[in-house]
Amino acid sequence: MEEKIRKVSVIGTGTLGTQIAIQAASYGYEVKVYDLDPEIFQKTLGKLRASMKALKKNPTLPLENWEQGVQKVKPAPDLREAVRDADLIIEAVLENLELKRKVFAEIDSLAPSRAILATNSSSLPISKIENATKRPEKCLNLHFYMPAFGMNMVDIMGGTQTTAATIEAGQQWIRSIGCLPLAVKKEILGFCFNSVWRAIKRQTLYMWAGGYVDFRDIDRAWMVFTGMTQGPFGIMDSVGLDVVYDIEMVYYNESRDQKDYPPEALKAMVERKELGVKAGKGFYTYPNPEFSRPDFLQG
Ligand code: NAD
Repeated sequence: MEEKIRKVSVIGTGTLGTQIAIQAASYGYEVKVYDLDPEIFQKTLGKLRASMKALKKNPTLPLENWEQGVQKVKPAPDLREAVRDADLIIEAVLENLELKRKVFAEIDSLAPSRAILATNSSSLPISKIENATKRPEKCLNLHFYMPAFGMNMVDIMGGTQTTAATIEAGQQWIRSIGCLPLAVKKEILGFCFNSVWRAIKRQTLYMWAGGYVDFRDIDRAWMVFTGMTQGPFGIMDSVGLDVVYDIEMVYYNESRDQKDYPPEALKAMVERKELGVKAGKGFYTYPNPEFSRPDFLQG
């Protein structure tokens, strides 16, 4: 049986790591964070607050509790200090296999032997990372979906040696921070819901890049169809177009099917640093993107 999780570390505090850290701290966990860029947590926080306001989205817990959570997150000066006494460590650095393997190996050498190591990767199965550590039985995927925007669900998937106790501890912990665990029974690229979302991304990017439709019309249709306050292109802007591109490349590298190759037009946006919300410009401009205006759905 795994020991109880009390102390959580999040490594990488960009778009997702920041949200994960705040979610855990809001639910009473002791949370330490570390990022190569010591200012990124505060910078990301500012952008998150602005986006939540513009999109009229809130975490599913009261905003007041979320703000209290922000105050409880403790930045660490280095990786050693960040993971020294952690029970659960969640890696949320860039979507790059070699980088994640390197970070996992470092964490493994510094963290207590009891600690569970999780990756928040959007596409890389833990089976590709686990053997960078000496504790593959305690490694797993915990893939979050923007908890600051009320998307409180987490894909959970084990690797080749992950024990049932590790999965169980992960599921319990996800529930304990107000999120829904989406368990994957057999390894699949993209996990549970993310593989469904990925099919939507691929098709919508294809239609936009091929010049078949205006991306705004896809977003309008999606908003009408689902009742959501943004469509796939707005969501991709929130995710970060560099992250979207890297994820698509993971799928392509796995399948080598040209249909999985991300559109050149997306790559061009990334090269122009039009990365979405975090850059102030992506498919839309921020703050106050077009889709948040009251007349957007009138076309
Ligand atoms: P991001 O670019 O916003 O943040 C990544 C952070 O990692 C940066 O702040 C960077 O300084 C830091 N970093 C890089 N190397 C590091 C190292 N060696 N040690 C410590 N910090 C390091 O990226 P993101 O969007 O937060 O994505 C992070 C991970 O989460 C990726 O694997 C991504 O696939 C996954 N993810 C992202 C989303 C999303 O919507 N953006 C959703 C689910 C999962």
